[in-house]
Amino acid sequence: MEEIILKARNLKFSYEGSGHMALNDFSLDIPRGAKVAFLGSNGSGKSTFFLCCNGIYRPESGTLYYNGKPMDYSRKGLLDLRKKVGIVFQDPDNQLFSASVYQEISFGILNLGVSKEAAKEAVERIMEEMDIASYREKPTHALSGGQKKLVSIADVLVMEPEIVIMDEPSSSLDPKHVRLVNQAVENMSAKGITVMMATHDVDYAFAWADEAVVIHEGRVLRQGPPQEIFADPALLHTANLTRPAVMEMYDILCRKGILNPDAPAPKKLEELLSRLTVL
Ligand code: ADP
Ligand code: MG
Repeated sequence: MEEIILKARNLKFSYEGSGHMALNDFSLDIPRGAKVAFLGSNGSGKSTFFLCCNGIYRPESGTLYYNGKPMDYSRKGLLDLRKKVGIVFQDPDNQLFSASVYQEISFGILNLGVSKEAAKEAVERIMEEMDIASYREKPTHALSGGQKKLVSIADVLVMEPEIVIMDEPSSSLDPKHVRLVNQAVENMSAKGITVMMATHDVDYAFAWADEAVVIHEGRVLRQGPPQEIFADPALLHTANLTRPAVMEMYDILCRKGILNPDAPAPKKLEELLSRLTVL
């Protein structure tokens, strides 16, 4: 049976003075090592949930379980949690505050009480991996949006987290940086890290995720394999989601008798095209 690394049960949370629930009976299970896409309109509660996952916000009621244990909101509990559950914020300017890239990435790990030498080694390794060593001395505010995003990811990875949460990582990035971010995400999964990602890119979510969570008005409407989620028109309508292009095209080609509907549906456009070229 798959192991659940993070479990939410009936979370409720509202921002002070807002008069409505940002999370309302919010429940889900995240399997260890999974690639989980969070889908839902702006304001549905994705970021609020993410901020609960590493204890920045504490739900008013309901329980979050990390590795089977209810979250510990003591100072030590939160420190331990933030090592293990890292968030890459949607806006890097909310994450980066140090004078240089090197200092930025060192900050968190030095705070853990790691020796200077061990921290240096870890920071150098992650800068190599993310290919950002060339701007190590640059102040973070002088970086491009894409570079800032890579530094934010390095910030989180240097802590060797078990879960990495990415809040709309590709919004406002150029195609080159989208590729670099996607590659970094692949590397995380290859290392066994659980990745939770909010995205509006249904094509990417469909191709990438092994689990999709549909959120609407502070609740989880449905959690399941993307193939099932995107095959449910009523669900997509409620959550204001569109179907992935590859699914639309596959359906049309099956209806026209060009492709065999009994074969497994392709997840990527390239897969669909390669089936067409062999015809
Ligand atoms: P999403 O990330 O899915 O776009 P959010 O979690 O940011 O959704 O927002 C959920 C709800 O909480 C929305 O109604 C939003 O307006 C509200 N909200 C989010 N952040 C704040 C905040 N800092 N103060 C007050 N309300 C907020
Ligand atoms: Mg958000």
